Amino acid sequence: MITAIINGRVFDGEHVREDTTVVLDGTRIAAVGGEPPAGADVVDARGKTLLPGLFDAHVHTSDEALALALRFGITTELEMQGMNTKTGRAHITENDSLADVRSAGFGITPPGGHPSELMPEDFTPEGHGEPDDRSGRSGPHEMPLMPFSTTPEEAVAFIPRLVAAGSDYIKFMVDDGTVEGHPGLPMLDQATLTAGVAEAHRHGMLTIAHTLTIDATRMAIEAGIDGFAHLFMDRPHTDEIIDLIAASGAFVVPCVVLNASMMGITGSSLTEDPRVGSRLNEAWTNTLNSSYNRYPQGELDDVLASVKALHDAGVDLLAGTDAAPLPLPFLGGVVHGASVHQELQYLVRAGLTPIQALRAATLTPARRFGLEDRGRIAEGLRADLLLVDGDPTTTIGDTLNLRDVWRRGTRTVLSAS
Ligand SMILES: [Zn+2]
Repeated sequence: MITAIINGRVFDGEHVREDTTVVLDGTRIAAVGGEPPAGADVVDARGKTLLPGLFDAHVHTSDEALALALRFGITTELEMQGMNTKTGRAHITENDSLADVRSAGFGITPPGGHPSELMPEDFTPEGHGEPDDRSGRSGPHEMPLMPFSTTPEEAVAFIPRLVAAGSDYIKFMVDDGTVEGHPGLPMLDQATLTAGVAEAHRHGMLTIAHTLTIDATRMAIEAGIDGFAHLFMDRPHTDEIIDLIAASGAFVVPCVVLNASMMGITGSSLTEDPRVGSRLNEAWTNTLNSSYNRYPQGELDDVLASVKALHDAGVDLLAGTDAAPLPLPFLGGVVHGASVHQELQYLVRAGLTPIQALRAATLTPARRFGLEDRGRIAEGLRADLLLVDGDPTTTIGDTLNLRDVWRRGTRTVLSAS
């Protein structure tokens, strides 16, 4: 089937093109510009803006969460710890009612290290359904590979096993619990981190660090990390740490929405927005209306200033949320889909232009994660698209004026189910 989206403004991932026709043929973008072909199904996008489907570059996800993300225009989620590796996602790749996904599998951390401190002591996963139930899958449940490591030898030995188990990139937790209210948590030491990153690079893998403090960030740079899944929030930035990150070439997924939640800021401004509230069920609404609230002494303005300093230093910023796979209020303040839109608003509040913020959710994550078949509107790429009313290239909040979402050319039903 051929669809022509006509009369719309097109943000192609890099630039804005006024009044441009985009033609979809099956799962691909067949043409950008020119006349709509005869017989095409026509979508009139006058007064609207067509964007590449958005990325969320930091999630922990499930089938339910991938469906929710897609209804908010997120066509690709990048999982930073979870089950959706190459071997775990066959049912997702061809399912156009779910966002597509890539995954680290589980991150390398010592026994008892992050993220074990985030679970309340009385929390039992059984009370929230078996993993197979929540993913909508059936059949025996395979335990994921949990690469607990305290020595360089252990970390090195886990790398080929993670690759064999289908990890798309390798995640390292470098966290002593400072900002989670658990100081003294077991943490990877420099030698283990450095050896693990080097071994991952020998296997051609992208490496990503979970770091929330400046000291942990410095350790990851020392190890040669390729990207950061978070932005430090324990202190205001210094010129030194910004220069170190910039010189390393690493990207940063600031997840401002997560840092805000860690400081006790809930997502209630989102649930009060009818464009969001009307699309969330009660469980996700309650989750968004709560927060992690583990570091109330943190300063959101410091985080925003760090974002701006990184941007000004030429560091690639990627939009991410750290949304959890299930609606659990103790992991609250962020939600799949809607929080990406809020993250874009935070990036603009930090000082990026709307177009620079939009690149952080399209062009830049596609390039940094080697997903060259998406993240732009160009001939031959996947027809992953988002159509909104208004002009988010000048008013970032317009990304929430959702009108249509296509995943591989299949139009999504946007109403909540
Ligand atoms: Zn995370």
